[in-house]
Amino acid sequence: MSIQVAVNGYGTIGKRVADAVALQPDMELIGVGKTRPNHEAELAIENGYPLYAAIEDRIDLFDEAGLELAGTVEEMVEAADIVVDACPSGIGADNKSLYEAHDTPALYQGGEDADLVDVSFNARGNFDEATGADHVRVVSCNTTGLSRLLAPLQEEYGVEKARVTLVRRGGDPAQTGRGPINDILPNPVSLPSHHGPDVNTIFPDLAIDTLGLKVPATLMHTHSVNVTLESTPDADAVRELLDEQTRTFLIPEGAGIDGAGALKEFAMDRGRPRADIWENCIWSESVSVEGSDLYLFQAIHQESDVVPENVDAIRAVLGTADAAESIERTNGTMEIGF
Ligand code: NAD
Repeated sequence: MSIQVAVNGYGTIGKRVADAVALQPDMELIGVGKTRPNHEAELAIENGYPLYAAIEDRIDLFDEAGLELAGTVEEMVEAADIVVDACPSGIGADNKSLYEAHDTPALYQGGEDADLVDVSFNARGNFDEATGADHVRVVSCNTTGLSRLLAPLQEEYGVEKARVTLVRRGGDPAQTGRGPINDILPNPVSLPSHHGPDVNTIFPDLAIDTLGLKVPATLMHTHSVNVTLESTPDADAVRELLDEQTRTFLIPEGAGIDGAGALKEFAMDRGRPRADIWENCIWSESVSVEGSDLYLFQAIHQESDVVPENVDAIRAVLGTADAAESIERTNGTMEIGF
Protein backbone atom coordinates (compact mmCIF):
# COMPACT_ATOMS: atom_id res chain seq x y z
CA MET A 1 0.00 0.00 0.00
CA SER A 2 1.22 3.48 -0.77
CA ILE A 3 2.25 5.84 2.03
CA GLN A 4 -0.77 7.79 3.29
CA VAL A 5 0.38 11.41 3.60
CA ALA A 6 -1.50 14.31 5.20
CA VAL A 7 -0.45 17.94 4.78
CA ASN A 8 -1.54 20.23 7.61
CA GLY A 9 -1.28 23.89 6.61
CA TYR A 10 -1.94 24.58 2.96
CA GLY A 11 -0.10 27.84 2.36
CA THR A 12 3.11 28.69 0.49
CA ILE A 13 4.99 25.54 1.44
CA GLY A 14 2.03 23.22 2.10
CA LYS A 15 0.40 23.58 -1.30
CA ARG A 16 3.68 22.89 -3.05
CA VAL A 17 4.41 19.85 -0.88
CA ALA A 18 0.87 18.55 -1.50
CA ASP A 19 1.38 18.78 -5.28
CA ALA A 20 4.76 17.05 -5.03
CA VAL A 21 3.36 14.25 -2.85
CA ALA A 22 0.50 13.75 -5.31
CA LEU A 23 3.12 13.06 -8.03
CA GLN A 24 4.82 10.24 -6.12
CA PRO A 25 3.97 6.69 -7.19
CA ASP A 26 4.60 5.37 -3.67
CA MET A 27 2.48 7.97 -1.87
CA GLU A 28 -1.14 9.00 -1.62
CA LEU A 29 -2.15 12.49 -0.51
CA ILE A 30 -5.07 11.76 1.80
CA GLY A 31 -5.91 15.39 2.47
CA VAL A 32 -4.90 18.90 3.43
CA GLY A 33 -5.75 20.86 6.57
CA LYS A 34 -7.06 24.44 6.29
CA THR A 35 -8.13 26.99 8.87
CA ARG A 36 -10.40 29.02 6.59
CA PRO A 37 -12.21 28.80 3.25
CA ASN A 38 -10.04 31.11 1.12
CA HIS A 39 -8.84 30.77 -2.50
CA GLU A 40 -6.28 28.16 -1.48
CA ALA A 41 -9.05 26.00 0.04
CA GLU A 42 -10.87 26.29 -3.30
CA LEU A 43 -7.67 25.25 -5.08
CA ALA A 44 -7.38 22.13 -2.94
CA ILE A 45 -10.90 21.12 -3.92
CA GLU A 46 -10.19 21.87 -7.59
CA ASN A 47 -7.10 19.65 -7.38
CA GLY A 48 -9.16 16.84 -5.90
CA TYR A 49 -7.44 17.03 -2.49
CA PRO A 50 -9.81 16.19 0.41
CA LEU A 51 -10.12 19.24 2.65
CA TYR A 52 -10.06 18.95 6.45
CA ALA A 53 -10.94 21.70 8.92
CA ALA A 54 -8.15 22.65 11.31
CA ILE A 55 -10.46 24.58 13.65
CA GLU A 56 -13.80 22.95 14.51
CA ASP A 57 -15.52 26.28 15.32
CA ARG A 58 -15.00 27.35 11.71
CA ILE A 59 -16.62 24.37 10.01
CA ASP A 60 -19.72 26.48 9.29
CA LEU A 61 -17.60 28.98 7.33
CA PHE A 62 -16.61 26.23 4.87
CA ASP A 63 -20.29 25.22 4.52
CA GLU A 64 -21.26 28.85 3.88
CA ALA A 65 -18.54 29.16 1.23
CA GLY A 66 -19.83 26.02 -0.47
CA LEU A 67 -16.59 24.09 0.17
CA GLU A 68 -17.13 20.47 1.08
CA LEU A 69 -15.11 19.18 4.02
CA ALA A 70 -13.96 15.59 4.38
CA GLY A 71 -13.68 15.96 8.16
CA THR A 72 -11.46 17.53 10.81
CA VAL A 73 -7.66 17.65 10.88
CA GLU A 74 -7.76 15.29 13.84
CA GLU A 75 -9.48 12.66 11.66
CA MET A 76 -6.96 13.30 8.87
CA VAL A 77 -4.03 12.84 11.25
CA GLU A 78 -5.53 9.60 12.57
CA ALA A 79 -5.83 8.21 9.03
CA ALA A 80 -2.31 9.21 7.95
CA ASP A 81 0.95 7.25 8.05
CA ILE A 82 2.76 10.59 8.32
CA VAL A 83 1.77 14.25 8.48
CA VAL A 84 3.66 17.13 6.93
CA ASP A 85 3.06 20.17 9.11
CA ALA A 86 3.40 23.31 6.99
CA CYS A 87 1.77 25.75 9.38
CA PRO A 88 3.28 29.16 10.18
CA SER A 89 6.32 29.24 12.48
CA GLY A 90 5.42 28.20 16.02
CA ILE A 91 2.08 26.61 15.11
CA GLY A 92 3.88 23.35 14.31
CA ALA A 93 5.04 23.24 17.93
CA ASP A 94 1.42 23.74 19.06
CA ASN A 95 0.34 20.84 16.82
CA LYS A 96 2.95 18.39 18.11
CA SER A 97 0.69 17.01 20.87
CA LEU A 98 -2.05 16.28 18.29
CA TYR A 99 0.36 14.18 16.21
CA GLU A 100 1.65 12.42 19.31
CA ALA A 101 -1.88 11.65 20.48
CA HIS A 102 -2.49 9.76 17.22
CA ASP A 103 0.96 8.18 17.09
CA THR A 104 1.50 9.74 13.68
CA PRO A 105 5.08 10.71 12.81
CA ALA A 106 5.39 14.33 11.74
CA LEU A 107 7.58 16.52 9.58
CA TYR A 108 7.87 20.19 10.55
CA GLN A 109 9.32 23.13 8.64
CA GLY A 110 12.30 25.39 9.19
CA GLY A 111 10.36 28.00 11.14
CA GLU A 112 10.16 25.63 14.11
CA ASP A 113 12.94 25.40 16.69
CA ALA A 114 15.46 22.61 16.24
CA ASP A 115 14.84 21.40 19.77
CA LEU A 116 11.19 20.63 18.94
CA VAL A 117 12.30 17.57 16.99
CA ASP A 118 14.44 14.45 17.16
CA VAL A 119 16.28 15.23 13.91
CA SER A 120 16.75 18.17 11.53
CA PHE A 121 16.82 16.97 7.93
CA ASN A 122 18.43 17.59 4.57
CA ALA A 123 18.31 14.80 1.97
CA ARG A 124 21.86 15.35 0.71
CA GLY A 125 23.24 15.91 4.20
CA ASN A 126 21.82 13.39 6.66
CA PHE A 127 18.99 11.31 5.11
CA ASP A 128 19.61 8.19 7.21
CA GLU A 129 19.44 9.98 10.55
CA ALA A 130 15.69 10.55 10.14
CA THR A 131 14.81 6.87 9.81
CA GLY A 132 12.43 5.83 12.56
CA ALA A 133 12.23 9.32 14.12
CA ASP A 134 8.80 10.58 15.22
CA HIS A 135 9.47 14.31 14.81
CA VAL A 136 11.68 15.63 12.02
CA ARG A 137 12.29 19.20 10.90
CA VAL A 138 13.04 19.93 7.25
CA VAL A 139 15.46 22.81 7.63
CA SER A 140 14.71 26.26 6.20
CA CYS A 141 15.16 27.36 2.61
CA ASN A 142 18.53 28.99 3.33
CA THR A 143 19.84 26.10 5.42
CA THR A 144 18.72 23.66 2.72
CA GLY A 145 20.61 25.69 0.11
CA LEU A 146 23.75 25.82 2.25
CA SER A 147 23.60 22.11 3.15
CA ARG A 148 23.35 21.08 -0.51
CA LEU A 149 26.38 23.20 -1.32
CA LEU A 150 28.53 22.28 1.66
CA ALA A 151 27.91 18.50 1.63
CA PRO A 152 29.83 17.78 -1.60
CA LEU A 153 32.55 20.33 -0.77
CA GLN A 154 33.09 18.69 2.61
CA GLU A 155 33.18 15.18 1.12
CA GLU A 156 35.46 16.04 -1.80
CA TYR A 157 37.84 18.67 -0.41
CA GLY A 158 37.19 19.04 3.34
CA VAL A 159 35.92 22.34 4.70
CA GLU A 160 38.19 24.26 7.04
CA LYS A 161 35.69 27.09 7.45
CA ALA A 162 32.67 28.48 5.61
CA ARG A 163 31.74 32.17 5.73
CA VAL A 164 28.45 33.17 4.15
CA THR A 165 26.62 36.48 3.83
CA LEU A 166 22.93 35.87 3.18
CA VAL A 167 21.10 38.64 1.34
CA ARG A 168 17.56 37.69 2.25
CA ARG A 169 14.34 38.63 0.52
CA GLY A 170 12.14 40.77 2.77
CA GLY A 171 9.08 38.55 2.27
CA ASP A 172 7.41 36.22 -0.19
CA PRO A 173 5.51 37.87 -3.09
CA ALA A 174 2.14 37.39 -1.37
CA GLN A 175 3.33 38.65 2.02
CA THR A 176 2.20 42.24 1.55
CA GLY A 177 2.89 43.18 5.16
CA ARG A 178 6.59 42.33 5.13
CA GLY A 179 9.54 44.61 4.48
CA PRO A 180 11.73 46.57 4.35
CA ILE A 181 10.34 48.50 1.38
CA ASN A 182 13.13 51.05 1.17
CA ASP A 183 16.08 49.95 3.23
CA ILE A 184 18.91 47.46 3.63
CA LEU A 185 18.88 45.94 7.08
CA PRO A 186 21.65 44.00 8.76
CA ASN A 187 19.43 41.23 10.16
CA PRO A 188 20.24 40.32 12.78
CA VAL A 189 22.72 43.10 13.57
CA SER A 190 24.57 40.89 16.01
CA LEU A 191 26.56 37.91 14.75
CA PRO A 192 26.11 35.15 13.90
CA SER A 193 22.79 34.97 12.08
CA HIS A 194 20.81 31.84 12.99
CA HIS A 195 21.74 30.16 9.68
CA GLY A 196 25.22 28.98 10.73
CA PRO A 197 23.97 27.24 13.90
CA ASP A 198 21.12 25.84 11.80
CA VAL A 199 23.60 24.32 9.32
CA ASN A 200 25.23 22.72 12.36
CA THR A 201 22.00 20.82 13.06
CA ILE A 202 22.83 18.93 9.84
CA PHE A 203 26.65 19.01 10.01
CA PRO A 204 27.52 19.34 13.72
CA ASP A 205 31.28 19.60 13.18
CA LEU A 206 31.35 22.05 10.29
CA ALA A 207 32.93 25.44 11.04
CA ILE A 208 30.64 28.13 9.64
CA ASP A 209 29.95 31.82 10.30
CA THR A 210 26.95 33.51 8.73
CA LEU A 211 25.79 37.12 8.46
CA GLY A 212 22.35 38.16 7.28
CA LEU A 213 20.87 41.20 5.54
CA LYS A 214 17.26 41.84 4.56
CA VAL A 215 16.50 43.74 1.38
CA PRO A 216 13.39 45.00 -0.46
CA ALA A 217 13.02 41.98 -2.73
CA THR A 218 10.56 39.09 -2.85
CA LEU A 219 11.80 36.73 -5.54
CA MET A 220 14.77 34.85 -4.06
CA HIS A 221 17.57 34.94 -1.50
CA THR A 222 21.19 35.40 -2.64
CA HIS A 223 24.21 33.99 -0.81
CA SER A 224 27.73 35.36 -1.08
CA VAL A 225 29.86 32.36 -0.15
CA ASN A 226 33.49 31.95 0.89
CA VAL A 227 34.64 28.46 1.87
CA THR A 228 38.19 27.82 2.99
CA LEU A 229 38.89 24.29 1.80
CA GLU A 230 41.36 21.77 3.15
CA SER A 231 42.80 21.34 -0.35
CA THR A 232 43.38 23.52 -3.40
CA PRO A 233 41.24 22.37 -6.35
CA ASP A 234 41.00 24.58 -9.40
CA ALA A 235 37.75 26.38 -10.18
CA ASP A 236 36.87 24.04 -13.05
CA ALA A 237 37.06 21.00 -10.77
CA VAL A 238 34.72 22.70 -8.28
CA ARG A 239 32.31 23.61 -11.10
CA GLU A 240 32.31 20.01 -12.27
CA LEU A 241 31.64 18.74 -8.74
CA LEU A 242 28.73 21.15 -8.27
CA ASP A 243 27.39 20.34 -11.73
CA GLU A 244 27.27 16.62 -10.85
CA GLN A 245 24.94 17.31 -7.91
CA THR A 246 21.31 16.77 -8.80
CA ARG A 247 19.84 19.73 -6.92
CA THR A 248 22.28 22.39 -7.97
CA PHE A 249 21.93 24.31 -11.21
CA LEU A 250 25.08 25.90 -12.58
CA ILE A 251 23.90 28.99 -14.43
CA PRO A 252 25.86 28.79 -17.66
CA GLU A 253 28.22 31.58 -18.58
CA GLY A 254 26.61 33.71 -21.27
CA ALA A 255 23.04 32.67 -20.39
CA GLY A 256 22.16 36.29 -19.71
CA ILE A 257 20.84 35.46 -16.25
CA ASP A 258 22.01 38.31 -14.05
CA GLY A 259 19.79 37.92 -11.01
CA ALA A 260 16.65 36.55 -9.42
CA GLY A 261 14.32 38.27 -11.89
CA ALA A 262 15.95 36.57 -14.86
CA LEU A 263 16.03 33.25 -13.01
CA LYS A 264 12.29 33.43 -12.39
CA GLU A 265 11.72 34.33 -16.06
CA PHE A 266 13.87 31.32 -17.00
CA ALA A 267 11.72 29.08 -14.77
CA MET A 268 8.49 30.48 -16.24
CA ASP A 269 9.74 30.00 -19.78
CA ARG A 270 10.44 26.38 -18.99
CA GLY A 271 6.95 25.85 -17.67
CA ARG A 272 7.83 25.39 -14.02
CA PRO A 273 4.71 25.26 -11.80
CA ARG A 274 4.38 28.59 -9.94
CA ALA A 275 7.77 29.50 -11.52
CA ASP A 276 9.34 27.36 -8.82
CA ILE A 277 13.09 26.73 -8.75
CA TRP A 278 13.82 23.71 -6.58
CA GLU A 279 17.56 23.79 -7.27
CA ASN A 280 20.34 25.97 -5.81
CA CYS A 281 21.23 28.39 -8.63
CA ILE A 282 25.00 28.91 -8.70
CA TRP A 283 26.52 31.40 -11.10
CA SER A 284 29.16 29.40 -12.92
CA GLU A 285 31.26 32.50 -13.59
CA SER A 286 31.33 33.33 -9.89
CA VAL A 287 33.02 30.06 -8.92
CA SER A 288 36.60 31.14 -8.14
CA VAL A 289 39.44 29.68 -6.13
CA GLU A 290 42.24 31.77 -4.60
CA GLY A 291 44.65 29.37 -2.88
CA SER A 292 42.35 27.29 -0.69
CA ASP A 293 39.57 29.90 -0.66
CA LEU A 294 36.51 29.15 -2.78
CA TYR A 295 34.13 31.99 -3.64
CA LEU A 296 30.74 31.90 -5.35
CA PHE A 297 27.25 33.41 -5.50
CA GLN A 298 24.11 31.32 -5.33
CA ALA A 299 20.41 32.20 -5.44
CA ILE A 300 17.82 30.22 -3.49
CA HIS A 301 14.10 30.16 -4.23
CA GLN A 302 12.70 30.32 -0.73
CA GLU A 303 9.21 29.14 -1.61
CA SER A 304 10.22 25.88 -3.26
CA ASP A 305 13.70 24.48 -2.54
CA VAL A 306 12.45 22.67 0.58
CA VAL A 307 9.67 20.88 -1.32
CA PRO A 308 11.68 17.89 -2.65
CA GLU A 309 13.33 17.66 0.76
CA ASN A 310 9.92 17.15 2.38
CA VAL A 311 9.15 14.35 -0.08
CA ASP A 312 12.46 12.65 0.71
CA ALA A 313 11.99 13.13 4.45
CA ILE A 314 8.75 11.11 4.24
CA ARG A 315 10.63 8.11 2.83
CA ALA A 316 13.54 8.65 5.22
CA VAL A 317 11.30 8.62 8.32
CA LEU A 318 9.37 5.55 7.22
CA GLY A 319 12.47 3.76 5.92
CA THR A 320 10.91 2.94 2.56
CA ALA A 321 13.89 3.97 0.39
CA ASP A 322 17.52 4.91 0.83
CA ALA A 323 18.81 8.40 0.06
CA ALA A 324 19.89 7.70 -3.52
CA GLU A 325 16.63 5.95 -4.47
CA SER A 326 14.46 8.58 -2.86
CA ILE A 327 16.29 11.55 -4.34
CA GLU A 328 16.20 9.97 -7.79
CA ARG A 329 12.47 9.20 -7.55
CA THR A 330 11.62 12.66 -6.27
CA ASN A 331 13.77 14.34 -8.90
CA GLY A 332 12.25 12.20 -11.66
CA THR A 333 8.62 12.78 -10.74
CA MET A 334 9.06 16.51 -10.14
CA GLU A 335 11.35 16.88 -13.18
CA ILE A 336 14.07 18.52 -11.12
CA GLY A 337 17.13 19.67 -13.06
CA PHE A 338 17.24 22.16 -15.94
P1 NAD B 1 2.08 30.38 5.02
O1 NAD B 1 1.54 31.40 5.96
O2 NAD B 1 2.18 30.73 3.58
O3 NAD B 1 1.21 29.05 5.11
C1 NAD B 1 0.81 28.50 6.33
C2 NAD B 1 -0.61 27.99 6.18
O4 NAD B 1 -1.00 27.35 7.39
C3 NAD B 1 -1.63 29.10 5.92
O5 NAD B 1 -2.50 28.68 4.91
C4 NAD B 1 -2.36 29.22 7.26
O6 NAD B 1 -3.70 29.65 7.11
C5 NAD B 1 -2.31 27.79 7.74
N1 NAD B 1 -2.52 27.60 9.18
C6 NAD B 1 -2.35 28.48 10.20
N2 NAD B 1 -2.64 27.89 11.38
C7 NAD B 1 -2.99 26.62 11.10
C8 NAD B 1 -3.41 25.52 11.90
N3 NAD B 1 -3.50 25.61 13.23
N4 NAD B 1 -3.73 24.36 11.28
C9 NAD B 1 -3.66 24.23 9.93
N5 NAD B 1 -3.27 25.25 9.13
C10 NAD B 1 -2.94 26.42 9.71
O7 NAD B 1 3.48 29.96 5.62
P2 NAD B 1 4.67 29.27 4.82
O8 NAD B 1 5.49 30.34 4.20
O9 NAD B 1 4.15 28.17 4.00
O10 NAD B 1 5.55 28.73 6.03
C11 NAD B 1 5.25 27.50 6.66
C12 NAD B 1 6.49 26.98 7.35
O11 NAD B 1 7.49 26.77 6.36
C13 NAD B 1 7.11 27.91 8.39
O12 NAD B 1 7.73 27.14 9.39
C14 NAD B 1 8.17 28.63 7.59
O13 NAD B 1 9.21 29.15 8.39
C15 NAD B 1 8.65 27.51 6.70
N6 NAD B 1 9.31 27.94 5.47
C16 NAD B 1 8.81 28.97 4.74
C17 NAD B 1 9.48 29.37 3.60
C18 NAD B 1 9.01 30.54 2.78
O14 NAD B 1 9.81 31.22 2.19
N7 NAD B 1 7.75 30.82 2.69
C19 NAD B 1 10.63 28.70 3.19
C20 NAD B 1 11.06 27.59 3.92
C21 NAD B 1 10.40 27.23 5.07
